[in-house]
Amino acid sequence: MPAKTGAEYIAGLKERPREVWIRGELVEDVTTHPALRNGVRSVAALYDMQTDPALRDGMTFNSPSTGDAVGLSFMIPRTADDLSQRQGLMSRWAWYSCGMMARTPDFLNVNLTAWVAAAEYFGRNRPEFEKNVLNYHEYIRENDVTLTHTLVNLQPRRSASVVDNLDDQVALTVIRETDSGIVVRGSRMLATLGPISDEIAVYPTRTHLLGEEAWRQAFSFAIPCDTPGLKFLCRESFDLDRPHFDHPLGSRFEEMDAVVFFDNVEVPWERVFLLGDVDMCNNYGGATQAGGHTAQQVTTRCVVKAEFILGLASLMVETIGSGTVPHVQEKVSELIVFLELLKACLRAAEADAQVNEWGVMCPAAAPMQAGRNLFPRMIYPRMAEIIQLLGGGSLMALPAEADFETSIGPEVERYLATDSASARDRAGVFHLAWDVACSAFGGRQVLYERFFGGDPVRNAMLMYNTYDREPSMQRVREFLDRKD
Ligand SMILES: Cc1cc2nc3c(=O)[nH]c(=O)nc-3n(C[C@H](O)[C@H](O)[C@H](O)COP(=O)(O)OP(=O)(O)OC[C@H]3O[C@@H](n4cnc5c(N)ncnc54)[C@H](O)[C@@H]3O)c2cc1C
Repeated sequence: MPAKTGAEYIAGLKERPREVWIRGELVEDVTTHPALRNGVRSVAALYDMQTDPALRDGMTFNSPSTGDAVGLSFMIPRTADDLSQRQGLMSRWAWYSCGMMARTPDFLNVNLTAWVAAAEYFGRNRPEFEKNVLNYHEYIRENDVTLTHTLVNLQPRRSASVVDNLDDQVALTVIRETDSGIVVRGSRMLATLGPISDEIAVYPTRTHLLGEEAWRQAFSFAIPCDTPGLKFLCRESFDLDRPHFDHPLGSRFEEMDAVVFFDNVEVPWERVFLLGDVDMCNNYGGATQAGGHTAQQVTTRCVVKAEFILGLASLMVETIGSGTVPHVQEKVSELIVFLELLKACLRAAEADAQVNEWGVMCPAAAPMQAGRNLFPRMIYPRMAEIIQLLGGGSLMALPAEADFETSIGPEVERYLATDSASARDRAGVFHLAWDVACSAFGGRQVLYERFFGGDPVRNAMLMYNTYDREPSMQRVREFLDRKD
């Protein structure tokens, strides 16, 4: 099947009802439920871009199996040009949601595409797993499967080390092997897009290492979201079912996060990619270098989001006429610095890209890591804060669309207009600012950026342990030895 359309994505979700719980309700159809349907529409619109004659250029490539046009994020990048083409796709999908939908399908597609190039790694101890990875990639590429993922186990207590304290009763655990597959029980967090995806990929992460004894929690697999025993427990929805004017982001881009419970779920052998080998699971990220590819998607989206926030802040300033105030100029300049810094990280990672041992062109890790460390800790929370500081009370003096149609409508029009904007235009800009920096949707955006790529403290520790600091130390040693 060639790259799918939005209608095909929606039909697929309808055909395969999954167990999704939201505020005490078992959702019958995720495509029509008010908490989820607008997010579904947005994902569908992304898929439509692949087939719409006016938009599809640069969104697909020819399948190596069938020659059909399939999603470009399934292409193994072999050259700098491949990376740059893929970045074009990432940027277009990110712009659709102004960077607010993070789990557009390209995020996981490029991850699993990095696996297929490194398929030999998966088969080192169990040759059948190499074949499973190759077949699965072909399956998701040819069927344009929409994926979610869960990497982190729920934990009843935290460990102070990078090795998680796993409890067999809580963490996702293999409880038996059968002729047809493995049976797993336990829980995982947190599947963003989970309730509205086709399949869920479950695999290890370098920021939550497995201890030697954790071989029953050491695995990688992928299964359909409607697999019996799989349950998604959603947080409350930030789509309040209000007009786009009132909640421009929440009413469109709810990608939903869910905790996932696995109640004796059977994973067929052909869907198992790693099993029981703690070292292979702990080293999988470094070996496949998949993280560099997802980092390209993440940094591209962060650039888009930063540009969007800069544009929004500038419109807010123009609307209320605060552009001559020195601290306002300083804050907008701070947004410019953030944007240019992120663009530089992305550009450096692509300019310094190298072919890895699997023949894949990989963006350079260090500039990506710099962006990934700065954005969650310093850049995005500060951007949201700047939107609040620039907005002040205008973020409260905020008529809903319906207010304009009431008997106080003429007063709303008169009193809320500014020198440069009508009351309606002002409300439009500031509703958007509210949804970015103050609403529940906006709060979740900040939390997402802080934690989606793993705990920022652990990420910083990973950087400390993997970045080659020896050349820098050597320069200092040489200076200390200097006699002149
Ligand atoms: C909105 C959102 C969406 C997400 N989407 C996904 C997704 O789609 N897929 C997925 O797999 N995951 C997803 N995540 C989950 C993310 O991977 C985890 O939140 C992240 O790994 C951190 O784990 P935690 O939330 O349990 O935090 P915790 O580990 O509980 O951290 C809480 C606090 O304790 C500190 N802490 C705890 N243990 C340590 C330690 N050993 N060393 C240093 N500090 C420590 C942390 O620094 C932090 O301050 C998402 C998270 C959020 C918030």
